[in-house]
Amino acid sequence: MIIKSYSSTNYLDALGNLVKRLSISNPKREVVENEYNRIYAGDRGEKFVMQALEQLQLPYDFYVFHNVSLFVESKIQIDILILTKYYLLIFEVKNIKGAIEFRQNPSQLIRTLPNGELNSFNSPETQLEEYTYQLKIFLLNHGIDLPIYGAIVFPFSTSFIKTTSSKTTILLKNEIKNFIRKISVKKEYLSAKEVDQLTTYLLNKHKDYNIYPLLNRYNIPREQILNGVICAKCGELGMRRTGHFWFCPKCKIKNKTAHETAIYDYLKIINSSITNSECRDFLNLRDIYQSSRILKNMNLEKIGKYRNAKYIIPTKH
Ligand SMILES: [Zn+2]
Repeated sequence: MIIKSYSSTNYLDALGNLVKRLSISNPKREVVENEYNRIYAGDRGEKFVMQALEQLQLPYDFYVFHNVSLFVESKIQIDILILTKYYLLIFEVKNIKGAIEFRQNPSQLIRTLPNGELNSFNSPETQLEEYTYQLKIFLLNHGIDLPIYGAIVFPFSTSFIKTTSSKTTILLKNEIKNFIRKISVKKEYLSAKEVDQLTTYLLNKHKDYNIYPLLNRYNIPREQILNGVICAKCGELGMRRTGHFWFCPKCKIKNKTAHETAIYDYLKIINSSITNSECRDFLNLRDIYQSSRILKNMNLEKIGKYRNAKYIIPTKH
């Protein structure tokens, strides 16, 4: 049973829009673009594994969570977690193209592309070991003793495993279900009620870490971020407000709510709050009443009053 289903990180969307809001010549553009591509590839891999798990059938109950963030000793972000009354299973998903080698001492993942280019990545083995350790502590802190298993999954056939790991299980997509079926279920460590409680607990403890505004994260000066509304159809920046619509001069489409994405861009990229006049400038609107109406009609939280009013993304409860 899928408890926390696959969702693309909204960080990815914000990064994509940040790229569109940087001029072609901006020196940070490449850094942000590379980060976007890295996360996009990771997301695709996780989605693929989640699809395989949707078809999984086991003779006992199991609960699947996509993308769980917890803070134990430090922040851990688990790609896929499976909870049962017999065990906990962590999947670290890697979508890396090319010939993959796991090296020891020091632990590294090296990949070679067909053109001979060599890249090194942080070892997923070390990461998995660290996550397993921290999850163990997390469970023990709650009086739970449950075996934890882990595996590194390469879901795409574009990864060719040249040298495998001696410490960790490495799986390809077609091995996932078989691997899970073979895990020992002789001893029940948790009652059904305890599994329920742990499920609720994991969902509540899950934190989307605040990585916004991205401008601070990438040290980009405010004036380098382009204002305006991006067309959702053609991706062009510079939709114009005409009456009750936004109009794209490039692809000629009309849209009523194109400003909403732009305002979320502002709140994720530039600053965690937006005032009425900042909104007017950012959307290139002529009058302040228009921006005021727009802000009021969005699902944002208002803080402060009158001239000091600001809007923020509502805090999740
Ligand atoms: Zn367009």
